[in-house]
Amino acid sequence: MHTPQAGLDLELVTIGTELLLGYTVDTNGAEIARVLSAQGVRVVRRTAVADRPDDIRQAVAEALRRTGAVVTTGGLGPTRDDITKQIVADLFGVPLRFDEAVWEHLLERFRRFGRVPAASNRSQAEVPEGATVLTNQWGTAPGLWLAGAPGLIVMLPGVPLEMRKLLEHEVAPRFAARTSGQVIRSLTVRTTGVPESTLAERMGEIESEIAPLTLAYLPGVEGVDLRLSAWRLPPDEADRRLREAAELVASRAGEHAYGSGESDLAAVVLEAAGKRRLRLATAESCTGGLVGARLTDIPGSSAVFAGGVVCYSNELKTGLLGVPAAQIEAHGAVSEPVVRAMAEGAVARLGVDLAVAVTGVAGPDGGSEDKPVGTVWIGIASAGGVEARRTMFGGGRQEIRARAAQAALFLLWRALGGAPRSPETARPSTS
Ligand code: AMP
Ligand code: MG
Repeated sequence: MHTPQAGLDLELVTIGTELLLGYTVDTNGAEIARVLSAQGVRVVRRTAVADRPDDIRQAVAEALRRTGAVVTTGGLGPTRDDITKQIVADLFGVPLRFDEAVWEHLLERFRRFGRVPAASNRSQAEVPEGATVLTNQWGTAPGLWLAGAPGLIVMLPGVPLEMRKLLEHEVAPRFAARTSGQVIRSLTVRTTGVPESTLAERMGEIESEIAPLTLAYLPGVEGVDLRLSAWRLPPDEADRRLREAAELVASRAGEHAYGSGESDLAAVVLEAAGKRRLRLATAESCTGGLVGARLTDIPGSSAVFAGGVVCYSNELKTGLLGVPAAQIEAHGAVSEPVVRAMAEGAVARLGVDLAVAVTGVAGPDGGSEDKPVGTVWIGIASAGGVEARRTMFGGGRQEIRARAAQAALFLLWRALGGAPRSPETARPSTS
């Protein structure tokens, strides 16, 4: 049997057939895990079940046996498929009692909205005996907090807004009181331009060096995020250890580490260019403006980003950027001479200090033996000269384009003298 450590380790059971059909994404599960870990609660398992009595009973009973603490969402509404309370009451061996205060609250809410409750709404005022009612000011189904022989169960409605409000106002503070101020916090070091396996080699035996913190590799189209987590520490100690570990991780990732927390490489590029008072422009073919979009997503980008040319056709590469038609003819549009000419053309014709050019084969068609789908040339030009690099990206058309845009930003950042950011800028986050 478990030793009940209510509020420390718990399991989530999300209830609703729609979750299993894949039509509703379990955002509640993610939110509950985020909010509760910030309070030092470790969510050790998440189970989704259909609105079927046996499935709910089994999932809740097993979770209680394992951890002694469960949070559920869903199945608290007034309809026939909302059966969570009844099943929990059975499991805890207590009856459902009609709660006048909950009913009054519900009537008051209906009055306010000029509605008349249906007969089925009465069931929403039924509460397992001994449960604490978590008043729901945002909807009709209250949350319920019930401690008994099988353990602790917190039942929350499925409607995301109501769930979120109850979680924040009623549930999180109650758990915080049980975890004596300890927190679970994470800090992400963002890297790009390096595969996960190479990064892991660079990290070496880091797991033992950063213990009790843990490290997770989270690859995505923008690169690999290195997520450090501190488990159940006082907030100050968690933040200090996370900062120190982030410094170590960033130094091992070297030139590939461009920021931490929610850092966006586009913002990092703009900041680096802004400090040096440089103006930027883009010349984009296969990315069709994605690099410019990334830059202009950042507020204040106009101070640095002049604009760009989307030159998808050969004619525009020649007409707008002065890429010699003979070079396109001789080497193809996806080639080193062309990307160099695009970047140089952007500097000259757009009157900027630094330009990045991108030309590649995003697919699914258009690949060849020497230029397969995923081949992308990126060029960087300034008054000081031009450099070009050939890269190869995997994935479908959208991934290739997104990865190419990120790689273009990375080369821009490198050209701007980008280096690992100082750990002081590392911002702890619970997200
Ligand atoms: P219920 O409380 O079961 O009546 O759920 C009401 C509504 O909340 C459902 O129709 C879903 O759209 C939504 N919902 C239920 N569970 C979840 C969940 N785990 N994540 C996100 N939305 C949910
Ligand atoms: Mg439901």
